[in-house]
Amino acid sequence: MPVAEQVDGLHVDEITVKYGGVTAVSGQTLTAPRGRITGLIGPNGAGKTTTFNAISGIVRPASGQVFLFGEDVTHSAVQARARKGLGRTFQRMELFDTLTVAENVVMGKEAAVAGRRPLAHLRISPANKRLARASAADAMELCGITSLARRRPAELSTGQRRLVELARTVAGQFRVLLLDEPSSGLDKRETERFGEILTTLVRDQGVGILIVEHDMALVMSTCDHIHVLDFGRPIFEGSPREVANSALVRSAYLGSEAAGLEVAAP
Ligand code: ATP
Repeated sequence: MPVAEQVDGLHVDEITVKYGGVTAVSGQTLTAPRGRITGLIGPNGAGKTTTFNAISGIVRPASGQVFLFGEDVTHSAVQARARKGLGRTFQRMELFDTLTVAENVVMGKEAAVAGRRPLAHLRISPANKRLARASAADAMELCGITSLARRRPAELSTGQRRLVELARTVAGQFRVLLLDEPSSGLDKRETERFGEILTTLVRDQGVGILIVEHDMALVMSTCDHIHVLDFGRPIFEGSPREVANSALVRSAYLGSEAAGLEVAAP
């Protein structure tokens, strides 16, 4: 087990999250260091989104700790965690249809500077606005959507919208990204392309990614290490091959994505 204070990225230590009398996550420990893609998988209702919410500060764990770059942020607000380098996407896309793709992506950088308060966006200095535009241009290039810059999200396919959403998060120049089912709605080819972009992001920019994903082919082909949750409890962790070969994991997935695990076994 790594020493929490020395992890170059995210470290979650034994968190338990309760909603009233329901324990949604119990004793989850994981590490998502920079330069690696870490997977968090499990059947529906296993507690993956709840774990993300505890990491990003939307819910408070009943016990346990969250560390970012060695600092205990368990009691820090969402925006304070973002300023320390933690970015996140949500299951449901939140693009602004009245803005162009480029403007949506610029918002990613501005939000990292100003938070979610609209007035703070208006007060951003011209120098920071230029910086935001440059970050957005780089992010769109990395995600292969530069040619869509002037279009509006409503005109795009789901696959293209997912890439806009990713570019917006990338533009925030966060050091650790939490991606919640980022490939949902994508076809096979788009999912493969998405995986390639994630791998490039990690390799070229040293970002750390923690990904919740139901598409096993994407998980197996991109993740360096995978944690498996079932009924709120961590049941297994290991390499993609170890996860794919685990009888425990297969039985947890019985009747759902078990076939995906078989196909994906490297
Ligand atoms: P899915 O793959 O379907 O998105 P998940 O693994 O992300 O599921 P969570 O959404 O974290 O699972 O849910 C974990 C458990 O906590 C479930 O039993 C769910 O019903 C419960 N839960 C989630 N959010 C709340 C809430 N706000 N209040 C009460 N219970 C909740």
